[in-house]
This record gives sequence, structure tokens and C-alpha cells, in this order.
Amino acid sequence: MLLRLRNTLIRFMAGRYGMDSFGRFLMGLYLGLWVLSLFFPRGLTEFILSMATTAVLVVLVWRMLSRNIPRRQAENQWFLRWWYPTADWLRRQKDRLRDIRRCRYRRCPHCKAWLRLPIKRGRRTVTCARCRTLFKAFFL
Ligand SMILES: [Zn+2]
Repeated sequence: MLLRLRNTLIRFMAGRYGMDSFGRFLMGLYLGLWVLSLFFPRGLTEFILSMATTAVLVVLVWRMLSRNIPRRQAENQWFLRWWYPTADWLRRQKDRLRDIRRCRYRRCPHCKAWLRLPIKRGRRTVTCARCRTLFKAFFL
């Protein structure tokens, strides 16, 4: 019985697009919106959130069942072009928060590298670890 269900599912998904990075992102977005909606049990916010949650789910399922694979792959590429820098930025914010008591992050004006610097209050001169440029940084 279970095996037959599994075979039916495999046959159903054959030639369909399935899951990719964009799909996983939509899945996360769906769960995030769903959790957020728990905090707004009624009113206009609840309505907007449930519409958005449903829309995300519809797009997610529709993409997974789609047979137009080149088109879906192109969408995924487009998504990743936006997602890689965004994920990088998010990771940096997480590191900043983790190190908030010990370090400050400053960008080298010359090579644009992010530098993790120990906190010494006031204005001071910093040497970039990558390109050795000296620059002034202010620490609160
Ligand atoms: Zn530098």
C-alpha cells in the first residue's frame, strides 16, 4: 500500500521541476510568515499575512509541479543572484551581534574588506590586514 503510494508519487513527479534553492527559500518564507501570523490572531494584519502565506505556498507548489524546467532554472538563477549577497550580509549581521562585546566591524576604504577590530575607544589608526592601508576609525 505504502509502496504503491510511493510509486504513484514518483510517477506523478516525473518530468516535473521539484525543489531548488528558490523553493527552499519560499518554504522558509512560508514557515516564517506562518509563525508571524500566530502573533496576529485577527484584524487586517491577520488577513494580509494569511493572503501572503497562501500566495507563497501557491508559488512554491506550482513551481515544484511545473514541467517548464528551463524557465524554473532561470528563475532560480535570478533568485541566487540576489540571495548570495543577501545571505552574506545576514551572516555578517549575525557575526556582528555575536561579537558586539569584543569587536567592531569596519570596512577598509581601499580594498573594501571587512575588518574585525578589537574595541579601543576613540579615534585611532587601523591597518588593513589585507592591503596594509592605514585609515582612521572611530570607536564608541
Ligand atoms: Zn584594505
